[in-house]
Amino acid sequence: MTDGFKISRIALVAHDRKKDEMVSWAEQHKNLLLPHQLFATGNTGSRVAEHTGLAINLLKSGPLGGDQQLGAMIAEGKLDILFFFTDPLSSMPHDVDVKALLRISTLQQTVIACNRTTADYVILSQLFASDSTAPDPVA
Ligand code: PGA
Repeated sequence: MTDGFKISRIALVAHDRKKDEMVSWAEQHKNLLLPHQLFATGNTGSRVAEHTGLAINLLKSGPLGGDQQLGAMIAEGKLDILFFFTDPLSSMPHDVDVKALLRISTLQQTVIACNRTTADYVILSQLFASDSTAPDPVA
């Protein structure tokens, strides 16, 4: 697109009690998300797409392998930013998948935002959608 603009590969995930917040956040920032390639776990993505009209590539539901699919994308250098609204007050059957996803994201220098405040900082950052060089991920 224009100078310095980068189309990023962005994933949206929200635990059940955070889905309303994710829908509201995506609606708020719809115009900033629009030019990018969007992915999401099944239920999160369906809710966001329905409410915002954004085109989203739907993966499996998180507990059914969607978190692992995202982890694989990150390991292969195919995802740039992860907006993952986690619920720290509920236990999850797929807790190990969540931990693995956060671990591989950290390892690979993927941008991660686990709550709405941080997500706002990321999406409103000068670095969002810029093609400035990020630190090299682990080879
Ligand atoms: P979901 O998965 O969007 O399919 O509900 C989210 C999760 O990891 O719990």
